[in-house]
Amino acid sequence: MSTSPDALTVRDHNTLFNSPEYQEQRERKKQFEGGSAPEEVARVAEWTRSWEYREKNFARQHLTVNPLKACQPLGAVLAALGFAGTLPLVHGSQGCTSYFRGHLSRHFKEPVPTVSSSMTEDSAVFGGLSNLIEALGTSVHLYKPDMVAVSTTCMAEVIGDDLQNFIASARTKGAITEDIPVPYAHTPSFVGSHVLGYDNMLRGILSYLTEGKKSTSNGTINIVPGFDPYVGNIREIKRLLTLLGIKHVVLGDHSDSLDSPATGEYHMYPGGTPLAVAGDSINADATVFLQALGSKRTKEIVNGWAGEAVMLNPPIGIANTDTFVTEVARVAGVEVPDEITAERGRLLDAMTDSHAYLHGKRVAIAGDPDFVNGMLGFLLEMGMEPIHVVSSNGDATWAERAKGILAASPFGAKATVWPGKDAWHLRSLVFTEPVDLIVGPTHLKHLAREANVQLFRAGFPIFDRHHLHRFPIYGYAGGLHLLTQLVNSILDEVDRNAPDHSFDIVR
Ligand code: SF4
Repeated sequence: MSTSPDALTVRDHNTLFNSPEYQEQRERKKQFEGGSAPEEVARVAEWTRSWEYREKNFARQHLTVNPLKACQPLGAVLAALGFAGTLPLVHGSQGCTSYFRGHLSRHFKEPVPTVSSSMTEDSAVFGGLSNLIEALGTSVHLYKPDMVAVSTTCMAEVIGDDLQNFIASARTKGAITEDIPVPYAHTPSFVGSHVLGYDNMLRGILSYLTEGKKSTSNGTINIVPGFDPYVGNIREIKRLLTLLGIKHVVLGDHSDSLDSPATGEYHMYPGGTPLAVAGDSINADATVFLQALGSKRTKEIVNGWAGEAVMLNPPIGIANTDTFVTEVARVAGVEVPDEITAERGRLLDAMTDSHAYLHGKRVAIAGDPDFVNGMLGFLLEMGMEPIHVVSSNGDATWAERAKGILAASPFGAKATVWPGKDAWHLRSLVFTEPVDLIVGPTHLKHLAREANVQLFRAGFPIFDRHHLHRFPIYGYAGGLHLLTQLVNSILDEVDRNAPDHSFDIVR
């Protein structure tokens, strides 16, 4: 490092914004804003942590504060990235597409190639036909994809743009040739969430690619991961299926698209399920869905395929993974090899080693419906006690399933389940009925700090910790990874807070 007096001093964010000039600036801003006195702010903040405020908070009906979900087209983009050579095209404004790219990039720490039809005010008045035609023509010419997967934003949906007709017009007008596949999904963002958008886009892609391909069995098992923020999960599922000796195909494999190696060369389409393989998925012996709740739209088309459809909870923890392994072994007609049984035993052993530090911990958990239900299984297996179970994009069906999981364990007896509630509801829950740990995405870090409760980051999105998504939380190996992270983060806290007489070498 240079010691020259002219060397550039780069201060980090914390240091920079604590310097006198920024402190003075903040003080001046406060005077300009004319806000309430600090004592009044503190009094109201304290009141918002009370039971009285909680009742008012839960009585609100027409306002959402910090929902723990993203909008449909973001999920549609992730679904498209699961297919080889596929360019996601979002029909709508550039701002929405920047948000999807940014959101996914911040989580996966990878570039997210996605284009927009750049609708502006005039398109809102006259319709987005010319935008979509131009976008398709330009994208195919510039980026040379094998497939373009089109989804919509709020603007396109509010004015009623018809994708089927628009794409047909693009072909008629010669903007794109007849042979390039352009599946689509209408993904209105004012209903559902990124999970529904993923499901809608996957359905659109599979309907398109499998059309007219029905034939005899190809001896394969399809795996549908759903909206999975862990690339490590997809790899772990493929590893397990290979150990089982099952011929398989992942429908929507974004594990390489969003975790490509640094080789010095940029590849725009570094992975994904090959399109011909996806087209033949209609002839599989079975299709196994790893997110039963988030795959309802895709399941509707798979119902028309010859093979059985198997709907599962995500394989998180022992019991959920047992179900996954026994179900795929059953549909494929294979035996479970000793190697997998040994992995299971190792996880069980590790859970026993660590359980004293986790047993009885009161937990608040929030996230996508299937993720929450999968994680509940693992938390209960560790003897942890879920207290608040929240899913902003969870519905009554999710809540019923979550309650069933909780009812099956004595450690689930204290839990309440909250479908459709947001992070501000969760704040009231945590302040009125305190917990030891919050499990959920990065967006809960402010609540965790305010409530002085540890946040265990899991689910989507995780912006402020690195590489968690590269490791699996599925399967026995994923369970071991999850356990390692969880128990060690708790042990870090134990050490941080230990008095001298308990600052032990052995934990
Ligand atoms: S909610 Fe609508 S306007 Fe907002 S980012 Fe999503 S599609 Fe765009």
